[in-house]
Amino acid sequence: MAGCALVTGAGSGIGRAIALKLAADGYAVTVNDLSLSRAEAVAADIKTKGGQAVAVSGDVSNEADVSTIHAAAIAGHGEVTLLVNNAGIAHQSLFENLEVADFDRMFAVHVRGTFLMTKAVLPAMLASSTGAIVNVASQLGQIGGIELVHYSSAKAAIIGMTKALAREVSSRGVRVNAVAPGPINTPLVLELSEEWRAAKRAGLPLGRFGEPEEVAEAVAFLASPAASLFVGQTLGPNSGDVML
Ligand code: NAD
Repeated sequence: MAGCALVTGAGSGIGRAIALKLAADGYAVTVNDLSLSRAEAVAADIKTKGGQAVAVSGDVSNEADVSTIHAAAIAGHGEVTLLVNNAGIAHQSLFENLEVADFDRMFAVHVRGTFLMTKAVLPAMLASSTGAIVNVASQLGQIGGIELVHYSSAKAAIIGMTKALAREVSSRGVRVNAVAPGPINTPLVLELSEEWRAAKRAGLPLGRFGEPEEVAEAVAFLASPAASLFVGQTLGPNSGDVML
């Protein structure tokens, strides 16, 4: 077994592709999602392909749910050796129309969720001097997204958290990295207007959105021993839209 992976928001899109890829690579996978039925469907898919998986519902922004998710992972496969903080939401709004509640929810799911899940799994990783954490940020956290100030800010915070935590724990055997995907064909991107997507597509050197499986490859690499020298980095599967 490659290790015990916990993937949040894995009932759909990028998280689903990550869970399937990690299972194919030999990880026993805990599939979390807000939706139990979606998490169970992905776990069933993994098992059909001969992999190991357990499903657990829960909101990563909720402390009690995070305890439940962590406990389910340990009960299913033992201590988590790879955490992929992927759960996320999208919501498009002009800044002047943005409600405080929209801003708070965006930070709760992405930033607080990443913080809480990391806090849950990190002690065992440090105790065993082994582990990897891969955070799913976004290219919009690097370049900014129009009508997505709250989303872009939350994703930038995840990149900062990745760098800072990596500095703190890499010498103790835990590597922390992130991916910052460009637009990817998932249900989340359909939350954005057709006009937004068309303008974005037109600016992509590759001329196309990515597929969830292409992001999963980057996550699997960062998690693997092949990425032993990657610490606090943010890989960008982003169709060539690099404005850094
Ligand atoms: P998606 O909507 O297909 O999947 C997201 C999943 O996360 C859903 O199944 C949802 O139920 C779950 N989820 C949402 N809030 C949750 C919570 N609080 N706790 C647990 N699960 C929760 O979206 P996706 O495109 O696959 O997005 C996955 C990640 O990738 C997100 O963090 C997103 O911000 C990031 N991302 C997506 C794109 C893109 O273009 N699709 C680009 C860059 C980054």
